[in-house]
Amino acid sequence: MLYKRSSQLFAEAEKVIPGGVNSPVRAFKAVGGTPIFVKSAKGAYLYDEDGNRLIDYINSWGPMILGHAYEPVVNAVIEKAKLGTSFGMPTELETQIAALAVAMVPNIDKIRFVNSGTEACMSAVRLARGFTKKDKIIKFAGCYHGHSDSFLIQAGSGAITFGSPNSPGVTAGTAKDTLLARYNDLENVATLIDANKNEIAAIIVEPVAGNMGCIPPNKGFLEGLRQLCTDNGILLIFDEVMTGFRLAAGGVQELLHVTADIVCFGKVIGGGLPVGAFAARAEIMNYLAPLGPVYQAGTLSGNPLAMAAGLAMLQALDSDRTIFKRLEEKTAYLAAGIDKVLKANDVTFTINTIGSMISVHFDAAPVVDFQTAANGDNETFKKFFHGLLQEGIYIAPSAYETWFITDALTYADLDFTIQAIAKVSKTF
Ligand SMILES: *Cc1c(COP(=O)(O)O)cnc(C)c1O
Repeated sequence: MLYKRSSQLFAEAEKVIPGGVNSPVRAFKAVGGTPIFVKSAKGAYLYDEDGNRLIDYINSWGPMILGHAYEPVVNAVIEKAKLGTSFGMPTELETQIAALAVAMVPNIDKIRFVNSGTEACMSAVRLARGFTKKDKIIKFAGCYHGHSDSFLIQAGSGAITFGSPNSPGVTAGTAKDTLLARYNDLENVATLIDANKNEIAAIIVEPVAGNMGCIPPNKGFLEGLRQLCTDNGILLIFDEVMTGFRLAAGGVQELLHVTADIVCFGKVIGGGLPVGAFAARAEIMNYLAPLGPVYQAGTLSGNPLAMAAGLAMLQALDSDRTIFKRLEEKTAYLAAGIDKVLKANDVTFTINTIGSMISVHFDAAPVVDFQTAANGDNETFKKFFHGLLQEGIYIAPSAYETWFITDALTYADLDFTIQAIAKVSKTF
């Protein structure tokens, strides 16, 4: 397949947009080459500017769980747009989507809508700090909670008790309030809590990690976090921006039967429009302005087009809960197929899956945290990525990303993908 026009468009973009992209993951930094420019998408397929059709396993990094240009969502947006695109005043639609979200997700009474997952996580942490009157948070190495300052902290020696900023522009003052722990390591968390008695407002976690590949929590990990939080007056924040309305109608809380204090949403909840949200029981949410002292606001928050898209998406998921089962079956089918062909080609690999999330790691050891995810062989991944691209299959241009299975993918698409992987992995 040729990607000539994409290359030209990228060169044009680089002149006026830093790195040619509006979000760094879209650039092909980790794999080399130039990004593909999309013209349109429908169902399981992307159509690019060179006229290629690609089977899409990114799906806008998660939102398009029912496939691209899903008609009820598109129609809802078109109809709303005719009535005005933004008012900065309340609409009935906001209550409708809020009520549906509260009904679908366990353990939340109220929800506030924002414009991105970043905003949701940032606001959730501010709320937790205001509510507990404590400053520090614990996050896990390899978990992504958006690009706000408190979260851009990486592991490293000496970072066990105090985080060190890993992006210039994040001040040491901010970094010192973010403590880093190892995913799936409860003892590590307990040690941090002991060393910072009565100072920790919240533990924020991806209850199923999806930003270092897909890493499900070990048995007892989330339950252990819940207990540590309850015992120490710490709020447990589930960042379900990726997993919410994806792994189950009620997210990981429902799937794995663990209760969070605050839950963050994004991606699927907006149906492909820029939406995030955070939610909790009333006692916590009432701490937000205008009821309470913690300030949080947004000119375009609850935007009618975004709410129309989100509502149509949630209604579709709410009215047909078999979707989640279907997605899980497709994921299992794909995983089994990949397992078979990679084994046949003597490739060293590990596959992680849960629900509609899957990642392939080029290392034999179990991938359970950031360190083990980082052990994967990136040279093999690069060949894998570019090989698949030539076959018309688009996975994320980074070994640290999860692939998303959508309802629009057919078993023929999955078989085509497995065959392509068989072909590509012969050359490893
Ligand atoms: C994508 C993501 C975010 C950030 O959401 P944006 O809408 O990109 O700001 C936060 N947390 C998790 C778990 C995510 O996957």
